[in-house]
Amino acid sequence: MSKVMSVNCGSSSLKFKLYEMPEEKVITSGIVERIGHDDAIFTIKLNGEKIRKILPVKDHGVAVQIVMDALLENKILNSLDEIKATGHRVVQGGPYFHHSELFNEDTYKKIESLIPLAPLHNKAHLTGYNAFKKVLPNTPAVAVFDTAFHQTMLPEDYSYPIKKEYAEKYMIRRYGAHGTSHKYLCEIGESYLDGDDKRMIICHLGSGASITATHNGKCVATSMGLTPLGGIMMNTRTGDMDPSVYYQIQKMSGKDSETIFQEFNKESGLYGMSGTSNDSRDVEEAALNGNKDAQLALDLWSRRIADFIGQYYVRLGRVDMIIFSAGIGENSPESREWILNRVKEALHIDIDWEKNKVRGQIETISSPKSSVKVMVIPTDEEVMIARDAYKAIKE
Ligand code: ADP
Repeated sequence: MSKVMSVNCGSSSLKFKLYEMPEEKVITSGIVERIGHDDAIFTIKLNGEKIRKILPVKDHGVAVQIVMDALLENKILNSLDEIKATGHRVVQGGPYFHHSELFNEDTYKKIESLIPLAPLHNKAHLTGYNAFKKVLPNTPAVAVFDTAFHQTMLPEDYSYPIKKEYAEKYMIRRYGAHGTSHKYLCEIGESYLDGDDKRMIICHLGSGASITATHNGKCVATSMGLTPLGGIMMNTRTGDMDPSVYYQIQKMSGKDSETIFQEFNKESGLYGMSGTSNDSRDVEEAALNGNKDAQLALDLWSRRIADFIGQYYVRLGRVDMIIFSAGIGENSPESREWILNRVKEALHIDIDWEKNKVRGQIETISSPKSSVKVMVIPTDEEVMIARDAYKAIKE
């Protein structure tokens, strides 16, 4: 038995989950939020109870120390040596990483070189890694990339029709995101299918959302692009649009490109169209109460997803399973219904609407006569990170 920590560092947050491996038993989990503030929030789950403290946390180094102190004080660990490996989520692995990699100088430099492609994320991952390295200098650390699962795409699926010079010089192409989640869901989904030719469409619908087409465990196509702004419409992000929308808004509003980029990321999508909230539940409620803007936003959201499902059906030539996952996909029967109603006729899908009422649990929601199996599967990116970290100490 070995203890392994799954780590997800953002620019102002540090999420962790400590596992007993290989059993994959969660020992504890928690988060430090608002890093860099005097009123940062540290939450840790101990024996099923959430303990919350407000305290100053200057930087990620302090955050890691707070987490480690809590683990020692609460006797979850007798010594920090009991952590045998750490696994760090890395958003952008560029063209370099097809699978998880042990952190060494080369890995570090490559992640660093990709900062221009994911400025907030990759920088924060390295800051987090350095902070852990200080307290666990001899513990192997593994980088687990959100983009790795999508590296099996063909050039025709990942290239953009821009000048070759830009594509090469600035590494501009589709990299995708949520790869760790898609890989997890692909493995579970395939275990529910017979035969040796398995084709699936996986809908990871959280506040960030992406759709992936998989064939026998490999990613064939994915909706997110160079950055998480691309693909389907999201809670606050536009998703794909005619690129001239950007130019036109810039020209007419006089705003600079950075401002518009931030607006497209943080103030668009369901939120921007409805003017309500960045939480899809509020948008749903507003639509139910007759807010026409909210209704149109949800209609467009569902339409965009349905269109991707149709596109990927053709790309795969056939589909055996459609999976719904993440915050919205797992918990909103209404959202699943809006999407499925838009694709069911073409794809000969028959849904058991009673089963579709499921929230947050694994369930087959299609009926036996459906041509495509439709499942709700809760995702678990952290366990995938812990598995890869554990592999590093076994090898
Ligand atoms: P992310 O990791 O990208 O922040 P999540 O996968 O946690 O996203 O999903 C967050 C989204 O899921 C929010 O928009 C929230 O409204 C939605 N969500 C969470 N729980 C529910 C629920 N019970 N019903 C409907 N939507 C939900």
